[in-house]
Amino acid sequence: MGAAEIVQASAGGRIDSVSVAAYRIPTDAPESDGTLAWDATTLISVHLAAAGSHGFGYSYASRAAALVVADVLAPAIEGREAFDIPARWTDMSRALRNVGRAGIGSMALAAVDTALWDLKAKRCGLSLAALLGVMREAIPVYGSGGFTSYTRDRLAEQLGEWAEAGMRYVKMKVGRSPQDDPARVRAARRAIGDCQLFVDANGAYTRKQALAEAAAFGEHGVSWFEEPVSSDDLDGLRLLRDRGPAGMAIAAGEYGHDAAYFRRMLEAGAVDVLQADATRCGGITGFMQVAALCEAYGVPLSSHCAPSLHLPLMCAAPRAVHLEYFHDHARIEALLFDGFTLPRNGLMAPERSRPGLGVELKARDAERYRT
Ligand SMILES: [Mg+2]
Repeated sequence: MGAAEIVQASAGGRIDSVSVAAYRIPTDAPESDGTLAWDATTLISVHLAAAGSHGFGYSYASRAAALVVADVLAPAIEGREAFDIPARWTDMSRALRNVGRAGIGSMALAAVDTALWDLKAKRCGLSLAALLGVMREAIPVYGSGGFTSYTRDRLAEQLGEWAEAGMRYVKMKVGRSPQDDPARVRAARRAIGDCQLFVDANGAYTRKQALAEAAAFGEHGVSWFEEPVSSDDLDGLRLLRDRGPAGMAIAAGEYGHDAAYFRRMLEAGAVDVLQADATRCGGITGFMQVAALCEAYGVPLSSHCAPSLHLPLMCAAPRAVHLEYFHDHARIEALLFDGFTLPRNGLMAPERSRPGLGVELKARDAERYRT
């Protein structure tokens, strides 16, 4: 094959169109954590067309992110080469400068970036896992829910079912009514047998409260304390990391929108395990940057929410340890995504025979949630 043919073969074609939609899906019951309560989740879907192929990407964000896709990101990449993802990602990052690159901007960027990767993998006839190249064929998942809005019975039932299904870890929310935490943690512990128990305070505690809670949780074998204090309090996270019980990992990172955020968190030695969310940190391109930072700092990586998106990425990321199987998003993806993969015996494995990301939005089923 000559140089000209190689160039030809690697071209994905020009991006013809970028379309976006927002869907507001009610929760199956009221949900809350230590610092927020919600009754619906908004899914942003992006479809991108280039040279007769299409790509699908998604994000969980405010519907304002859909406007950012339509008004700012689509004009920045339409008519340009679809396969040159670093260049398109940079076009979009630059276009967001005055709009706000972090926050809604990076969530919008995430959906379009994911659609670019999906399109490229499909055009290459490969699953996204194969295109990225994997470290492992499957990734352990942890069941995540245990909302503070749940009764103690519902909490025990949900976590118990996940443990029964073979998951090695489950996570519950704490911090809304700190006086109730000990009884809730005891109820969860009783329901899950040998399974590891994770707790997430979503930044609800002060430093001193969090230290006391860590000691109490430690007595029930809690092995993961997520956002014991605000994830903006890097010194506070470090304090918990240094003074919390042995065997209890301190984790944070779900609100990271760019590589600099994660670098600062790692430089501060703030976490035992770094969390990242591709729907917030600029999509697959942004997430793999975080994976490289974890490699550079020698810190394990755990993904936050959006299980279908993170599945191939966590099989590819060298330092990945587990994927969050978040109740609300797993429910939405099972309902609205064709190709959704269920965990088996505590593991999720990408379907290698499906080109691309492996899931497609069932647009007709989603229509009733359109907003
Ligand atoms: Mg969290």
